[in-house]
Amino acid sequence: MTASRFRDLLLAEEQETIALMANLGQDIDLLVHARQDSNNDDEHDPEGSTLAFERSQTDALLKQSTARLADIAAALAKLDAGTYGTCENCGRPIAEPRLEARPYARTCIECASR
Ligand SMILES: [Zn+2]
Repeated sequence: MTASRFRDLLLAEEQETIALMANLGQDIDLLVHARQDSNNDDEHDPEGSTLAFERSQTDALLKQSTARLADIAAALAKLDAGTYGTCENCGRPIAEPRLEARPYARTCIECASR
């Protein structure tokens, strides 16, 4: 694949991640409001603990998406610098099928599975 094809993949991935984060932000708003409307006593209110659980799941997804955006930005910078597709750990080329599946990958499969 060419560099411009990877750039398209990265930009598409970036748009998806931003859209997901917008949805997650709305979810958090809804959960916060739902929580304020319900009994705040987690221990005696099963619904309260469910909301707390959903909130922490949503927070985790948001953190993951933030990290994903940083990876995408780093990959785009490497495309500009001409160093895209090189493992940040061992310096060897990252296999193309891995880049097609995860265009924002920072390391090769060997380093990632270590
Ligand atoms: Zn490596």
